[in-house]
Amino acid sequence: MLILGCPGSGKGTLSARVEKHFGIPIINAGDVLRWHIAHETDIGRQARDVIHNGQLMPDSIMMQLIGEKAISMGDHDWLLDGFPRTAGQADMLLQALHEQHTPLTLVVNLRVPESIILQRILERWTHIPSGRVYNLSYNPPQRPGLDDVTGEPLEKRDDDNPDTFKLRIDSFHAKTEPMIERLRSERCVYDPSRPLLVDLAGETSNAIWPKLRAAIEERCPHLVK
Ligand code: ATP
Ligand code: MG
Repeated sequence: MLILGCPGSGKGTLSARVEKHFGIPIINAGDVLRWHIAHETDIGRQARDVIHNGQLMPDSIMMQLIGEKAISMGDHDWLLDGFPRTAGQADMLLQALHEQHTPLTLVVNLRVPESIILQRILERWTHIPSGRVYNLSYNPPQRPGLDDVTGEPLEKRDDDNPDTFKLRIDSFHAKTEPMIERLRSERCVYDPSRPLLVDLAGETSNAIWPKLRAAIEERCPHLVK
């Protein structure tokens, strides 16, 4: 399954709920890149500038880092957050999944009004090693400034500022939206009466969560508890 949506639309928050509720492992593209930055690898050095400038990493690198991880899971369930983000990435992923006879079950597209997203990003604090996110207004940490699980300090992501956010939204409109429109025409191969992509709209992740849970339960009966 894929979870798509503009920066700050709640992909990370909702994937964490999917992982907890359904026990599905998540692969988060941004977290993998931030791991490389923290460990000062060659990819990390390139990613630092790209992320700071709100641009996108090259498709081939992202396919190696993220796409191949998903493909290697065979027919186990998994959820990708932050990949694919371009038509090129989507083509590579769908082609590889088709070849190994494990096509996608569901693509979720989160639709959150852009007018409220910048405020959410500015109020967001992140535990960088795990990717856990908190929001000062509606999902604050139990102890101010500290991660609930590890007690380690929370940080602002380098790209969660108004200038970089504008560039991230521009990249989303230019590169990711056309990909979403293309995926919108795909059917679910397991049930061709349904489209592959489902739009879920709401102003908060709490409002979207019941719709997401219902969409997963409908498409993946084996996950219903
Ligand atoms: P949010 O975390 O609020 O959902 P986001 O989706 O923009 O926002 P991340 O997924 O953490 O943030 O990605 C951060 C940055 O990493 C992106 O702005 C981009 O520079 C880079 N990146 C992440 N995924 C990809 C990808 N699939 N292709 C190219 N670059 C990527
Ligand atoms: Mg994210």
